[in-house]
Amino acid sequence: MKVFKFGGASVKDAASVKNLAQILKHYADKNTVVIVSAMGKMTNAFEGLIDNYLNNSSDLEASIMAIQQYHHTIASDLFSDLNHPIFKAIQTHFDALTSILNTNDSTDFDFVYDQIIGFGELLSTTIVSAYLNDFGVENKWLDVRDFIKTDSNYRRATVDWEVTTRLIEPLQSVSSMVVTQGFLGSHTKHTTTLGREGSDYSAAIFAYGLHAESVTIWKDVPGVLNADPRHFLEAQLLEQLSYREAIELAFYGASVIHPKTLQPLQQKGIPLFVKSFLNPEAKGTKVQAENGNTPQIPCYIVKKNQLLIGLTSLDFSYIVEENISDIFNILHLFKMKVDLIQNSAISFSVCVEDGFHNIEQVVKHFQIKYKVTLVKNVSLYTVRHYNAEAIALIEKNKDILLKQRTQDTVQIVTI
Ligand code: ADP
Ligand code: ASP
Ligand code: MG
Repeated sequence: MKVFKFGGASVKDAASVKNLAQILKHYADKNTVVIVSAMGKMTNAFEGLIDNYLNNSSDLEASIMAIQQYHHTIASDLFSDLNHPIFKAIQTHFDALTSILNTNDSTDFDFVYDQIIGFGELLSTTIVSAYLNDFGVENKWLDVRDFIKTDSNYRRATVDWEVTTRLIEPLQSVSSMVVTQGFLGSHTKHTTTLGREGSDYSAAIFAYGLHAESVTIWKDVPGVLNADPRHFLEAQLLEQLSYREAIELAFYGASVIHPKTLQPLQQKGIPLFVKSFLNPEAKGTKVQAENGNTPQIPCYIVKKNQLLIGLTSLDFSYIVEENISDIFNILHLFKMKVDLIQNSAISFSVCVEDGFHNIEQVVKHFQIKYKVTLVKNVSLYTVRHYNAEAIALIEKNKDILLKQRTQDTVQIVTI
């Protein structure tokens, strides 16, 4: 079996959905499981809706309408018959959403977020699946929440591999193509999510459970490049990568592959293809077991909007194991993603990503024991397989706040 994954950019409008259908017609068959994300930037739009809902904002109605309009436009462009059952199916999702908004009594942000955000994927797959069936690419729509089971850590749920694998394995004998949602899972009867951009990971979870022959993630770039083309001109395609190298790139923030995607694939030796949905004939990147192919060119990764926290002990005492473990406990408690640490005798610097907007609370906790400095909006550059020229390129015209170098990798925090 094969697993294909299509992200938001590949289903952002009717023309994109038609393009996806062409790709499936040529490259997929009944043994393909197709994972689809929310359309375009709809997950961000749902995040706006959730904020409006929880803050009792008068903009709530408008945010629902905008999302409804967006899906309606795509559906109307795809289905000329306004009596097509798809319009009722879409309405059913909006009715379910309204019902949740009206009956929910939880104030737990993460829980409420997951119950609402998943409608992006539900709507998208409903539209895509119906269009494919009309187009002649026969498929079965499945609710991924019946297959991916997780714990109750809403917004960052951990997969229960044993149960999930047991549920996915029987899909090997399904007689038609399957279309299902990325990003979502469930705990008891509630929706959970695997973290933003988590649909690549969903594809890997299915591939693992299905013992798939390959996973292909279809992107708006030619494959994995040696830099994000949005930030670096003349980025070059990396045709072959080992799991090890790809894990390192994803870990440091090369957002073309979600960092959790590679481990399940590596475990079963399932190759990952990263291909362009704009140019499906092109080769793209193949990620597979070690093949001696380390990139021969520097690979650049940039993470913008990071925070640099500096801690100095108030009484000139050393920062040693005990304090460091305290510091990490606090960072973990507030779900900070640690990118880089550096310590000296009485000071400790850490560059973090504050995905859950907890920095104020973190600073308050640190201030009990330390003098705290905070620099917001720093950029963290990582260069794998660096050389002097690559470092000079990053440092040009910038203030360097911190720098760390190992044999393979240099990391530079700039403002
Ligand atoms: P999806 O549609 O699956 O959600 P993403 O937008 O998350 O896709 O990922 C594709 C984007 O990743 C590209 O548009 C590109 O800007 C970015 N990107 C970051 N680093 C790289 C890299 N090293 N190679 C290719 N693309 C990269
Ligand atoms: N739709 C989700 C997001 O935008 C998941 C994904 O696309 O990977 O984060
Ligand atoms: Mg994405």
